[in-house]
Amino acid sequence: MSWERTVFGTVMNNCVLLEELLIKKSQQKRRTSPSNFKVRFFVLTRSKLAYYEDRHGKKRTLKGSVELSRIKCVEIVKSDIIIPCQYKYPFQIIHDNYILYVFAPNRESRQRWVLTLKEETRNNNSLVSKCHPDFWIDGKWRCCAQTEKMAAGCVEYDPTKNGMGFAKTILTLKIFISSKSNGWNLSCTECQKILGYISIKRHVAGFLGYSGLSFTLYG
Ligand SMILES: [Zn+2]
Repeated sequence: MSWERTVFGTVMNNCVLLEELLIKKSQQKRRTSPSNFKVRFFVLTRSKLAYYEDRHGKKRTLKGSVELSRIKCVEIVKSDIIIPCQYKYPFQIIHDNYILYVFAPNRESRQRWVLTLKEETRNNNSLVSKCHPDFWIDGKWRCCAQTEKMAAGCVEYDPTKNGMGFAKTILTLKIFISSKSNGWNLSCTECQKILGYISIKRHVAGFLGYSGLSFTLYG
């Protein structure tokens, strides 16, 4: 998602942090549930991560969600297995007693999701101190060969950066929106510097002159 879309998304819906089509692996909550991969439209807000079935031109159907307060760990997965879906950048979300594997289309997308989820869950009480860098598959962890799904992790869990070592740059700005032909100028409320321009032809009159909104920009 571009910088402009992040800002736009935040303006239009104050609580959507990220949204994107990603692929999820079934969590196999029941012993008999199949292992499969589904394309889902993921929406992250400050309170939960929800995923929807996205049928072209039809209303999205909610297929599941995870309360952020229940998340114990979010981390990229480093593995040499052949990933059987077209998105090749996996990350894991451990919540309750489940592992949600999500696959992003590229490294940048995965980094954005992992770091934003970490940021939103870093103060959770149930965070783990260690996690597993590889997949849980066929009844064992590929990293350490433990056969207990909820066995303690084998590497240190750092809730401030992803497993590649990238930390998130957070810059919170108060922005003033003013009109410009075919779009908006966004300027900093404090220094009046113009920070960016969004070209949108939609009706946005309700937002013009609005100041004091806080945005988090991802670098
Ligand atoms: Zn392990």
